[in-house]
Order: sequence, then structure tokens, then C-alpha cells
Amino acid sequence: MTPTYVSALEMFSIGIGPSSSHTVGPMRAGECFASGLAKLGLRHRVARYKVVLYGSLAATGVGHSTPDAALAGLDSLDPATCDPALVHGRYARLEAGETLRVAGVPLVLADIEFKPRVRDKGHANAMSFVALDAVGEVLKEQLFLSIGGGFIVQPGADPVQVDAPVERVVGSDYASMDELLAGLGARSLADFAREAEEALHGVDGLETGLDAIWENMKASVEIGLRTEGTLPGGLRVPRRAAALHRHLLAADEHPAESLVSAYAMAVNEQNAGGGRVVTAPTNGAAGVVPAVLYHAVQRGAGREKVHEFLLTACVIGSLIKANASISGAEGGCQAEVGSACAMAAGALTAVRGGTPAQVENAAEIALEHHLGLTCDPVAGLVQIPCIERNAVAASTALLASRMAMLGDGSHLVSLDTAIETMRQTGADMSEKYKETSTGGLAVTVPYC
Ligand code: SF4
Repeated sequence: MTPTYVSALEMFSIGIGPSSSHTVGPMRAGECFASGLAKLGLRHRVARYKVVLYGSLAATGVGHSTPDAALAGLDSLDPATCDPALVHGRYARLEAGETLRVAGVPLVLADIEFKPRVRDKGHANAMSFVALDAVGEVLKEQLFLSIGGGFIVQPGADPVQVDAPVERVVGSDYASMDELLAGLGARSLADFAREAEEALHGVDGLETGLDAIWENMKASVEIGLRTEGTLPGGLRVPRRAAALHRHLLAADEHPAESLVSAYAMAVNEQNAGGGRVVTAPTNGAAGVVPAVLYHAVQRGAGREKVHEFLLTACVIGSLIKANASISGAEGGCQAEVGSACAMAAGALTAVRGGTPAQVENAAEIALEHHLGLTCDPVAGLVQIPCIERNAVAASTALLASRMAMLGDGSHLVSLDTAIETMRQTGADMSEKYKETSTGGLAVTVPYC
């Protein structure tokens, strides 16, 4: 049995916007392909690269910077540490007729192919890299699946992990939240996660990793709250978080739900602008967890509580990832923003002193009311409805937590049932609503 728990240092990966599946994943895939070539001693023989995008990566890839990210990966840029400005704009330059040098090799527009109707590669987000020598012989060809949250795997009935950085799973096996709760004893969900994490990363490695995640989340809120202007991509969407935050602070009252919405918008505007964000559990849904955690810190949560929040959120996100999906291309937006809301609601309940049963209840309330939510980003950009959707989900997380804290944890619909319902709903959902921008707001909102 594959362990369910995904390390928080993987679940919350530091990267760049605007998408974990369409930007961070392809960048990692490109880097993985390039390092594989280097290991084989073939890099010096490459005369041409080809990149082929399939399914959703082809349908909405340009708006999500997928070609830019794939090429940056071939150039061995790391999403966690690179200057985002070095990633974005590559495809636009190709479209303008430029020849780029990628990993020392000339590359033109025709070297990137889009096949949006090909969806039989093992996942809706698939891509191939091909390296050819000077006479056109294929030196290496590799297919990757970007399965959401920045995770990449190689295809097959039983997808296997590829070279680092990739998904790493740790800890005990648990098939469901009910099973996990039954075996917790006196421990909290965060205690359970900490045991698994420390076995993998050691105490210092875990603490340092969690600190880095929070520092980057905090920075994405605070930079977003002081950045104005218009987002890239042609929709001319103005950044609104900074003005909203100023307005709220100037008012006589500062409702928590409004403030947390401003925090979430700040992060998602950073993401839409291609800036540095942390997948939580994806980039499209990157605003909810940091916003609610920022709210908790504003209310006095210290370092220990920050770590407890992140670990609790990771337990919930891991379970959803294992039993349903955190990918909009697989399950629609319920899988992205719905998952983020469940993670944030449960984690906030934990740091408020809620019992594991109340944490489970909060996560269930949050997820249940995102069931059926479709993914239909206008113009393939992670802006409309994504930015406001995170803002609303962040305030929903506060409400879900409050409702759970007012009860004793007993309730009718379990989190496991909500997750299974989300899985089934995602399976039934038309492909139009799975990050293809061929349905919903993506077609009813005029864009020219
Ligand atoms: S609509 Fe939701 S799932 Fe789709 S790109 Fe936006 S945030 Fe992600």
C-alpha cells in the first residue's frame, strides 16, 4: 500500500506562478529531462529540442506560462530559487519571431507543439520532451504527467516517481480520516504528521523547512498587499488586494472575513503576476492556506502554532490527494480551492485548540460546500474566477472552523464521505470544466 501522507515540504512547495500543474510541474519536468540527458552524457550532442504539450497543458498552457516554464526547466532553472522574470516571456519572444537559446541550443516557435485533443497519455496534463542530434536522430524522449500541486510522475498504470524534486511520501499508512482518527490515541493530527516528518527530515530539517514555507507564504501576502497595477495576460485585470486592505484598515471595524479575503487576493495576485508563491495545495488555490494562517498569526499564533497549522493542513491535503484529487484538470476547482479551504479550515481549528474530531468536522464543512465547483478560467489565465474564488474560500474556512468549534465534532457527513463524493463528482464532470477553458465563465465572459 502506498503511504497516504505526503511530506509538508513537498505539499507546500515554493515555486512561481501562475500554476502548479501548468507552470511548476512543467518546469520540473524540463529540469528532470535536462538532468537525465546530462547523466547520460548526451547534452553536448543535442542540436534541437522539441516540446509537445497535450490535453489541458495544451488547451490553457500559454495563459499559464507552460511553454515558458518547460524551456526554463530545460535551462535548469529551479522554481524555488529562480528569478521569476527569467522564466516568463520566452514564448512571447518566440511568437515575435525570435530564436531563443535554450540550454545552449537554438529553439524556434515550431519546436513547441500543442495537442489539446490528445488526452490519452495517462493524465489530462501530459507533456513530452525530445532531444535530437545534428542529423535528426532522437537522443532521448520522455513523457511526463503533471498531476497537480507541482508533482510530476512518469506515466503508466502505476505511475512511478521521476528524479527529484518529486513527490515523496512518508509515515504510516492510513486509508481514511476515520482510520487515522481511530489510531491517534492522545496525539493530534499534527503530532502524527510530525512523527512521520521527523523520521524523514530529522527535527532540524523539518523545522527549517516549515519556517521557509511560512516565510515565503508570508512574503506572498505582504508583497501582494503593497503591489498595485494591472495583471499580465490581456484581460487587464487590476490588482485589488492593496486598495481593499487599505480600505479595510481605514474603516472603524475590520471584519476578519474581509481581511482574510484581502490576504488571499494578495497571494493570488502575486501568483497571477508570475511571482513567488507556495503551492497550497496548488498555485491556483495558493491564497487560502497562507491567508488563513496569516490571520492566525495576526491573532497571536507563534512559531509552534504555525508549524502545527501547516502539518495539520498537510494531513488533510494528503488524504484528499490520495483518495480524490488536488488537480483542477482532474476534478475541477472543487479539487483545488475546495481542498485548500478544507486544509485551512481544519488547520485553523487545530491551532484554536479544537479536537481532532472538530478538525475533521471543519475540513468536511469546508469541502462539502465546494462540491461540484468547476474550473473555467477566463482566457486560460489564473485570474477570473481564481483570485476572488480564493478570497471567498478563505472567509469560508473561517466560518467552517467557527461552526466546528461550536459543536463537539459529531456530525452526519464525514470528511471521508465528502472526499469520495468529490472524487465521483470529478469523474462525472464534463471535460469542459477541467482546466480547458472551454466551458463556464471561460466562454460566457467576452474576451478579445
Ligand atoms: S478555476 Fe480553480 S481550478 Fe481552475 S485554474 Fe482557477 S483556481 Fe485553479
